[in-house]
Amino acid sequence: MTGYYAVLGQPIKHSKSPRIHQFFAAQTGQDLNYHAQEVSAEAFDDTVKKLFEQGYLGLNCTVPLKELAFAFADIKTDRAVRAKAVNTLKRQSDGSVLGDNTDGCGLVTDLLDNHKLSLQGRRILLLGAGGASRGIIAPLLEQAPQALVIANRTADKAMQLAVEFQDLGSISGGGFDDLNGQNFDVILNATSASLSDELPPLPDGVLAEQGVCYDLAYGNQPTAFVRWGLANGASQSLDGLGMLIEQAAEAFYLWRNVRPETTDLIALFDAERRLS
Ligand code: NDP
Repeated sequence: MTGYYAVLGQPIKHSKSPRIHQFFAAQTGQDLNYHAQEVSAEAFDDTVKKLFEQGYLGLNCTVPLKELAFAFADIKTDRAVRAKAVNTLKRQSDGSVLGDNTDGCGLVTDLLDNHKLSLQGRRILLLGAGGASRGIIAPLLEQAPQALVIANRTADKAMQLAVEFQDLGSISGGGFDDLNGQNFDVILNATSASLSDELPPLPDGVLAEQGVCYDLAYGNQPTAFVRWGLANGASQSLDGLGMLIEQAAEAFYLWRNVRPETTDLIALFDAERRLS
């Protein structure tokens, strides 16, 4: 029997999720239909209720709906509770709705498995203190870095996030000015600056020699931050395409109990954007 799924968001037209999940379904022999649906924050609750009543088995939720999805879920995974945001809803056999957050797991899988990086004992700088940062801090601290420093345009938000996660490891927060004189092995850009081809104000020397840069944003062309990494001697300067595919794989696993293989799809999307 065909299982029905969808990604909800606003805007949603350019979402790659339908293609990703149809690819996983074909690869794993799962009978699955997945579409993208534009839903405003105001219409979220009614739409989700209706879709589950119609028999949908799962939904992905993206900007600006992750906090609403968190509020909607009857039961939440620990990582969703930490993130205070849900990107994956699953209707369970008793009719209740489980909320999960697969973003952080997707990022760490991409860094460790696809790019063969280790975060243990590393100094990590996280730029931004919005929803994406909130979702990835716990999985990053699980990797036992030496330190995780959050820098944000609004310094208070970074400081508050650091306090919230301080039970999980060495973490501190502040503004971009506080970065002067420090350097980091790994810099993750979770600001939305790349979406307007802008760069957070980073001081010279903030990237350690042979350091790694990773932009959660992605596009057909290298983002401003990926270009900054390359210009500043990064050993690797990566974008978030792999994270997108890995968070989808984790959602697929939650829904279907089958883990898709991601390497071929990442290679396919990479090849397509090189040709674009
Ligand atoms: P939010 O709107 O929740 O947060 C945006 C953050 O960016 C805030 O910290 C904000 O600072 C900062 N910011 C915005 N503009 C600038 C700028 N010009 N200079 C410096 N800082 C800036 O967004 P999200 O956290 O949801 O998303 C962040 C990024 O992560 C986006 O690019 C998104 O596409 C990407 N993402 C990628 C995923 C993937 O699977 N690859 C998954 C989820 C997100 P302030 O607090 O001061 O306003």
